[in-house]
Amino acid sequence: MNSDISGMIELQRFWDTVLRCRDEIKKAGDSIQYWKGQIDESAGRVETLRESIRISKSSQRGREVELAAVEEKIARLESRRDTLRTEREADALQNELAAATSEKSVLEEEILLLMDELESKSAILAEAEREAGEIGRQSESDIAMLEERIRRFTAQMDEHQARFEEGLSGLSASVRPKFVKLTGTANGKAIVRIDGEICEGCRVKVPFHLAGEVSKRDRVISCSNCGRFLYSG
Ligand SMILES: [Zn+2]
Repeated sequence: MNSDISGMIELQRFWDTVLRCRDEIKKAGDSIQYWKGQIDESAGRVETLRESIRISKSSQRGREVELAAVEEKIARLESRRDTLRTEREADALQNELAAATSEKSVLEEEILLLMDELESKSAILAEAEREAGEIGRQSESDIAMLEERIRRFTAQMDEHQARFEEGLSGLSASVRPKFVKLTGTANGKAIVRIDGEICEGCRVKVPFHLAGEVSKRDRVISCSNCGRFLYSG
């Protein structure tokens, strides 16, 4: 076999490994990004709920202060009842008492609603915290595994990239630049098998005489359609 052909076949194997590793590294990197997104999202959910609980608690405290003031007012009005002299004064006091009592019941109702709200928010928060903890634990081990995977594929990629570059000097100057250029295309295929008369790079049938030349393996032949180098075997 022509030495450029065998050389390119070997280099193509190295290059295929480089590309496979690159792909795996990217996939692992994407998975890490996915996990980090999940962590941020769950932490954000917990923070939003905590903030909402803080607001509800502060409203509850505000209502309780108002309620205490109204209760104090009611007690004060009640204590004045015996000191009244006229019916007009009695009516006025009665009106004030009625207003304060109604204000009191409104506040009590609001406080009860806030307490219910706080209870359900706390339950949702507990669930969100549990979920965030779960995501944290799971992602920690997954990210460690993915980082290890990236290290392993990077080492393998570097090794094959080095072998590829080293081997390039073994190719003739007549094929080397085109070979390198073709490895830089989308799927990185620079030399492909010919299956009968079909180029496996572009699946197009090459002229009969070209297929015959390829099968002799003594001369470097390119696909008449896609330009990739061809080999048979
Ligand atoms: Zn082709």
